Amino acid sequence: MMIYVHIPFCVRKCHYCAFNSKVGGAAERAAYVDALTREINLRGDDSAVETIYFGGGTPTTLTLAELEKIIGALRTAFTVDDNAEITIEANPGTVDATYLRGLKSLCFNRLSLGVQSFNDALLKILGRIHDSRAAIQTVELAKIFFANVSVDLMYGLPNQTLEDVRRDLERIDGLGVQHVSLYGLEVEDGTKFFELARAGRLALPDDDTAADMYDLITTTLPALGFKRYEISNFARENFFSRHNVGYWTGKRYFGFGAGAHGFDGKLRTSNVRDVATYIERLNAGLSVSTVEEVVTRRAAMEEFCFLGLRMTDGISARVFAEKFGANIFDVFGAAIDDNRRRGLLAVDGDKIFLTARGMALGNAVFADFLL
Ligand code: SF4
Repeated sequence: MMIYVHIPFCVRKCHYCAFNSKVGGAAERAAYVDALTREINLRGDDSAVETIYFGGGTPTTLTLAELEKIIGALRTAFTVDDNAEITIEANPGTVDATYLRGLKSLCFNRLSLGVQSFNDALLKILGRIHDSRAAIQTVELAKIFFANVSVDLMYGLPNQTLEDVRRDLERIDGLGVQHVSLYGLEVEDGTKFFELARAGRLALPDDDTAADMYDLITTTLPALGFKRYEISNFARENFFSRHNVGYWTGKRYFGFGAGAHGFDGKLRTSNVRDVATYIERLNAGLSVSTVEEVVTRRAAMEEFCFLGLRMTDGISARVFAEKFGANIFDVFGAAIDDNRRRGLLAVDGDKIFLTARGMALGNAVFADFLL
């Protein structure tokens, strides 16, 4: 079983950000931590926990004492495995050596850093609070305390050129991190970028250039020793994110915090998204969670395929048969054959997986696995 904890606070809102995050003051953060620990206490069930992931927002806007309180609540409400992977997202500009040492002593053992780019002009356009020097310094510091450091990298940014992407990749080569997560910019409603795009003032790379950037990144990172283990994730051997692999393989997870999602193997739930409402409801002893979906056998079969196919190892026909008592080729024969013919999917013995072309066109393939 896995746990996700959402911390919805940031120092400043980035121009592209549609995540459930806001700028919060110290009093609001403290009230949120109280509410969060209340939710954990209410819903804890003594299950064994394999991974914990603190995401946001920027979890490192909390004080170490606040994080300690949340971790303490989790340890009281659940049984955390000795070798659990415990990740925290952090942004350059929000942590120093003392803070990182503190995170380590709280048992965090994986740090995911929102670097996005090493180009100062692009970081400014994105509205990030840090420049590339701060990002590099934070990575260097992080490596002193953590043996498992991940960085986020973005492409398809306003004014970005292929040469900019090449330079970012050179930086990553020299950085000595264990994991890279890749994000193509999506301009989402409610963001500053959305307004700029509507006013015709966002100079995005054209589709061909964005595709060239994607190709450059997805071919260069493996050449630098990062195995591509999922469409957008690359890692040194043995440094795959166990938490994310859990999502793609249908593991159960609790989601704590405003807007967090959960899955108990049958029901998909989501929490109240608004931070003030989340705090109010928990203070009043009310539930913050609603059932979004009852996962039917049919939906579970679909998810098995389109989540599992995100990983380069793909899915196993044998595991599908064990799980659902059915032959995957009987259920999804048409989708498998069509995508094989189009060169997007391959079958090798028991395994069904996306080809390199299929990885680039993943969403089109996944749509074919909806029954
Ligand atoms: S740091 Fe991350 S969560 Fe916070 S505003 Fe920027 S993109 Fe959004």
